[in-house]
Amino acid sequence: MNNVLEIIDLEKHFEDFKAVNGLSFNVKEGEFFSILGPSGCGKTTLLRMIAGFVEQSSGDLKIRNKDMKGIAANKRPVNLVFQNLALFPMMNVEENIAFGLQRQNLEKKEIEKKVEDILEKVHLKGYGKKEVSQLSGGQKQRVAIARSLVLEPSILLLDEPLGALDLKLRESMKIELKKLQKEFGTTFIYITHDQSEALVMSDRVAVMNNGRFEQIDTPKNLYANPKTSFVAGFVGEANIFTATYKNDLQICLNQDKEDFVINVNFIEKVSDKCKLYIRPEAIILSPSKDIKDLNRFNLIVKTILFDGSNTKLLTQIENTSYELLVSLPQNKQFAHIKVSDVLEAGVDYIDCKTYAS
Ligand code: ATP
Repeated sequence: MNNVLEIIDLEKHFEDFKAVNGLSFNVKEGEFFSILGPSGCGKTTLLRMIAGFVEQSSGDLKIRNKDMKGIAANKRPVNLVFQNLALFPMMNVEENIAFGLQRQNLEKKEIEKKVEDILEKVHLKGYGKKEVSQLSGGQKQRVAIARSLVLEPSILLLDEPLGALDLKLRESMKIELKKLQKEFGTTFIYITHDQSEALVMSDRVAVMNNGRFEQIDTPKNLYANPKTSFVAGFVGEANIFTATYKNDLQICLNQDKEDFVINVNFIEKVSDKCKLYIRPEAIILSPSKDIKDLNRFNLIVKTILFDGSNTKLLTQIENTSYELLVSLPQNKQFAHIKVSDVLEAGVDYIDCKTYAS
């Protein structure tokens, strides 16, 4: 597939500070591409450079092979959906959506047809005459997206558009946004600090930290094969331990006086110190005696963190002070677990990831 956006060595400096620091990446036509990172990492600055609201300090930015340097925001084939949506409160839904089309000097009939079509596509048929104030949060969201998509941009830029919605609505809007994007086939570049939004909706996610990308990958790969310590800690939940290299197949956890040895499959030895990341779902409860290559230990249940199908146990490894967060399988065998129970447990050699710290 063709690249709709090409970015080469892009930087934005605010005096001595590099908010965006030497980024190079491409986004493909029709892709849902998210930029995920903590507050202040440079996401908005990057998005605003793509939109043309912020001028780049250096590097190249091309949309559909055309260099965007010096091209004003309103002349770029992109549209930006803001977190606060920026709908016009004194206009009804139809007028809000028609606003951009009127500025393109289209005929009235054509505008009406486009508005009607897009309202149907975003499941708001019959809402054209409603005032913005009469709409729910989710409906406002869809009007804001319709207003941008009706202009048929090459890229739709979305700046944390679900941030203002309550949790339940955010969950349903994630699915809705993903569906809309597939239906329209428009390239979405979506910025968020919420990993679950990025993982659920995106074809690829760039994890950003201190103005740089740490990893660009599919949600599945980011989760299963994080390339850096930052990505492993930021994407998904993980039990994180500091550890020391013992030999090529073993490391020691060393918060306790007594060493706790963990067998691992592979260590890329950069230094003697490493960090160990274990996902809660990587811990096997009541493992069969037949499984080979398993680190085995007992866990004492300290707290049950009930969350429906995502219920977790906060446990302590027996005879140590190490705490371990464990996913509770949806399985009758574990239905009656209670605090203070002692469970046999294990973790595969391969699920341990180590990084030089
Ligand atoms: P958030 O999620 O909180 O919006 P962000 O990842 O979008 O954060 P940016 O808004 O891009 O981060 O800001 C990145 C860094 O650049 C921050 O440290 C910010 O203070 C700084 N910055 C942004 N705009 C300016 C400016 N106009 N002048 C000086 N510094 C700025």
